[in-house]
Amino acid sequence: MTPLADAIYNVKEKFLRYVQIDTQSDPNSTSNPSTEKQKDLSRLLVEELLAMGVTDAHLDEWGYVYATIPGNSSKNVPVICFCSHVDTSPDCSGAGVKPMITEYWDGTDIVLPDDPMQIIRMAEHPDLKQQIGNDIITASGTTLLGADNKAGVAEIMAAAEYLIQHPEIIHGTIKILFTPDEEVGRGTEKVDLQKLSADYAYTMDGETVGTLEDETFSADGVSLLINGVSTHPGFAKGKLENAMKIAADILAALPKDTLSPETTEDYEGFIHPTQISGIQEQVKLDFIIRDFSVAGLHEKEAYLQNIVNQTLKHYPNSSVDFKVIEQYRNMKEVLVNHPKVVEYALEAIRCSGMKPEQRSIRGGTDGSRLSFMGLPCPNIFAGEHAFHSKLEWVSVQDMEKATEVIINLVKIWEQKS
Ligand SMILES: [Zn+2]
Repeated sequence: MTPLADAIYNVKEKFLRYVQIDTQSDPNSTSNPSTEKQKDLSRLLVEELLAMGVTDAHLDEWGYVYATIPGNSSKNVPVICFCSHVDTSPDCSGAGVKPMITEYWDGTDIVLPDDPMQIIRMAEHPDLKQQIGNDIITASGTTLLGADNKAGVAEIMAAAEYLIQHPEIIHGTIKILFTPDEEVGRGTEKVDLQKLSADYAYTMDGETVGTLEDETFSADGVSLLINGVSTHPGFAKGKLENAMKIAADILAALPKDTLSPETTEDYEGFIHPTQISGIQEQVKLDFIIRDFSVAGLHEKEAYLQNIVNQTLKHYPNSSVDFKVIEQYRNMKEVLVNHPKVVEYALEAIRCSGMKPEQRSIRGGTDGSRLSFMGLPCPNIFAGEHAFHSKLEWVSVQDMEKATEVIINLVKIWEQKS
């Protein structure tokens, strides 16, 4: 396939436009979307899609953008969806983002002008080694950049524009989906898969150029409601069983050198306390459990249950309600049944001049949930780095590569159908 020379280079302009719109989501909100301002970007995306000639582009009441690029193939090609999220992380301000470009980057430290303490150094960002000579986009030092996931949004928009301007490229029906609230774990809450009616999907939300992620954590939550025995402290001898001390004993019994986020990597899972609240009578203690297999999750839950049982031996009149809440599952369990989805993406990366690399994510994606909702959905690189921080960066060249991958991928689906 020939390199794509012209329209994909609009990806930079699109990206610079999108990151200046504040779309931070809010974990404490119960509305959909969690913040109204996310729709400011979504509305702009709809306008731009309509202007390109994508006539069914629209924003729904929940903050999702749906659009279709009709196919021009005579074959029966599966409907492929490309998906990115418009929101940015609540962990770092996304208001008043001032993107700046360091052109033909020479490998020296990038000092962010609005807070010179914020410095992007190659030593701390190993992926920068491959970026010498590229144009690096960063924020100015006081906000995140929002490449997570506006790089993906810009790439999908640039690919859409390219395909519309190049009707000689033959492809099946392509669906575009922009979701809100991925960063607060609610990105697929109100998605309408029937309306989307895609066969397979790809999120464009990965990090390093050339990578594809087809494996994520499986995730459960465990919520402990500890019921102690409360008395007046002056008359407590032999009676009081303080729920806070029970909670402390449970936490102290967790291993110090394994099974925690701070002591594990790669394919190791963990048991991680996330929240505690209560009084001597009752304490609520929440955990997240992570592993790459469901069996591994169940093992860790049994391990925690055992700690609870052992602890309660010292508190005979107390009880603990142990509740497991399923959160999401490793997308690989679904993707192994649809090998073409990953195969074709790897081939598209190869066709775009890169050596593909398959990776796993120690986390979940919108794609993990979509896969289990019936839409198999691995994650392709978007080029975003150091996300959720003021040091976030992306290179123009990586975004162009990702755009090229989308275009090659729809060609491959058509050719192989
Ligand atoms: Zn993301």
